[in-house]
Amino acid sequence: MTTDTQRMTHSDAADTLIQMAARFYERGWMMGTSGNLSLRLAQDSLEYVITASGRPKGSLSPEDMVYLGVSQSPLFPGQPSPSAETALHEMIYSRCPGAGAVFHVHTVAATALSMRCLESKLCFEGLEMLKGLGVTTHDTMITLPVVENTQDIEGLARSLASTLNPDVPGFLLRGHGLYTWGRDAQEALNRLECWDFLFQVSLAGG
Ligand SMILES: [Zn+2]
Repeated sequence: MTTDTQRMTHSDAADTLIQMAARFYERGWMMGTSGNLSLRLAQDSLEYVITASGRPKGSLSPEDMVYLGVSQSPLFPGQPSPSAETALHEMIYSRCPGAGAVFHVHTVAATALSMRCLESKLCFEGLEMLKGLGVTTHDTMITLPVVENTQDIEGLARSLASTLNPDVPGFLLRGHGLYTWGRDAQEALNRLECWDFLFQVSLAGG
């Protein structure tokens, strides 16, 4: 397979993000204009498409997509402003070469658990659902970083770039929401569902 055939068309990428956002909106994970989603356009590339800033996630259109290259440089003139959290997506693509999709959502469980947690991490162990995060057994522990929320997203991206463990596909922003990623949109979706399940179990006392 050549690099060209591995490259996602802009139209396919936009359709995928529109469908994912509508799905997450219906589940209450992207209410109003909250959250942001992106897809890498080709393996081994830092070109990606990301949702525009301030657009209602239940009714996105192809005009709400922003195509960016290295250092958030626009691939086309006249695009809308990208998500205010674009630096975090770019950091994840740089730090995790296998990541092809980055999803950020504001779920009730993620937000509630991050506020209840008084530490800088959450540990999950002994749960079958952990296998959805890339491990082969429930008999293990996964540690999810919980970082303080900030409006200085560029600073947060720089700080996370030196601490992020690429083997754990996610982090929580306290009082804000969840970031997760996968090799493609389907894997990122699976992981999002796994994380939210784990959060709900934890909130339920498990
Ligand atoms: Zn957010």
